[in-house]
Amino acid sequence: MTADKMSQFAGIATIPGDPLFELVARYKADTFDKKVDLSIGAYRDDTGHPWVLPVVKKVDSLVSSDPTLDHEYLPITGLADFTAPAARLVLGKKSDVVKAGHVASVQTISGTGANHLGALFLARHHRSKVIYIPDPTWANHRAIFENVGLTVKTYPYFDKATRGLAFDDMLAALEQANDGDIILLHACAHNPTGVDPSQEQWTRIAEVVKRRNLFTFFDTAYQGFASGDLDRDAWAVQHFAQLGFEMMVCQSFSKNFGLYGQRTGALHVVMSDPAARTAVISQLAKLQRAEISNPPAYGARIVARVLNSESLFEEWVHDLNVMSSRIIAMRHALRDRLVQLGTPGTWDHIVNQIGMFSFTGLAPELVDRLVNEFHIYLSRNGRISMAGLNTHNVDYVAQCIDKVVRGN
Ligand code: PMP
Repeated sequence: MTADKMSQFAGIATIPGDPLFELVARYKADTFDKKVDLSIGAYRDDTGHPWVLPVVKKVDSLVSSDPTLDHEYLPITGLADFTAPAARLVLGKKSDVVKAGHVASVQTISGTGANHLGALFLARHHRSKVIYIPDPTWANHRAIFENVGLTVKTYPYFDKATRGLAFDDMLAALEQANDGDIILLHACAHNPTGVDPSQEQWTRIAEVVKRRNLFTFFDTAYQGFASGDLDRDAWAVQHFAQLGFEMMVCQSFSKNFGLYGQRTGALHVVMSDPAARTAVISQLAKLQRAEISNPPAYGARIVARVLNSESLFEEWVHDLNVMSSRIIAMRHALRDRLVQLGTPGTWDHIVNQIGMFSFTGLAPELVDRLVNEFHIYLSRNGRISMAGLNTHNVDYVAQCIDKVVRGN
């Protein structure tokens, strides 16, 4: 046998895998019959299984049997039948900016790709290379922005004492930002806290953005999931657009269409002068071509059919309500059980928080016990995906939380 030659990669350090995806893998490998997955933000039905939205199932069969469709490449900027209604969905049907051609839209590899493409564009073309992200935020934000060379700073977001928004501290931090700095805002259903600003607070955030001349980078991954009402969940984005702000909007259809693996999303750049649009689109297309050449067609075709048909749109809204109301019911079920058990602490934040997640406030050591002893899988920051709860496992989860909180 010949001796193995030293690899040119021998000096590369092994780093830990992504904690969330590792947790999912551990859950899948676990053979315990009462195991519970509260880790990743993906909708589950009351039996704990992934749910294909009925409207998606219906449109899927229309698309796959459509004799006019083939598997050719999409244009570099994606399917226009998808990006145009997607822009209207988030910016508002009656939005002046959409009507007057102030928006450049590009189809992306879902919300992650929209964040990446937007970040890459800003790293090349924006006057400030500093982006402020909330503390805490979606685990991938920092990595995405650092990957393209932006400087990442944070602003306070969550008040541990009230389990609500650290509003004054947030505004104070934004006041310190420099002219042109980029500020990332979750449009609704903040991940991981489930805490959103009120409309009045959004108005005050907009005042600071205007006064400090900041550039807003909206990330919207849960439109329709927070309140069940698509326009209410896009209120902040539409308010900023009405104020005439230049901004970016990263839009994901993973959660609200249940199209996680189809990687369906868009980046919308809103600009104050439509004359800039052609140049912006051309630069986005150049970046996109070098990165992915062109985006995937299937999910975009499904979303396009739904957004472009009044009757399918109504069916979608119904499906969204099925998901958001089941999640809300589970918030109440968990809170009520913890209260009944007399679990030390207050649990109202579970019903006050919105969207897919609850930031329980459980300390990392308690989370470790839930995972290792009780087979309940959740992030170490105490975030639970509410969709993992159902009428069959909520008693078990409440009892186990009660045990670890009491230290039993
Ligand atoms: N932004 C936020 C805030 C998210 O929570 C997520 C998904 N967890 C995304 C973006 C991106 O998701 P996707 O790439 O599946 O659209």
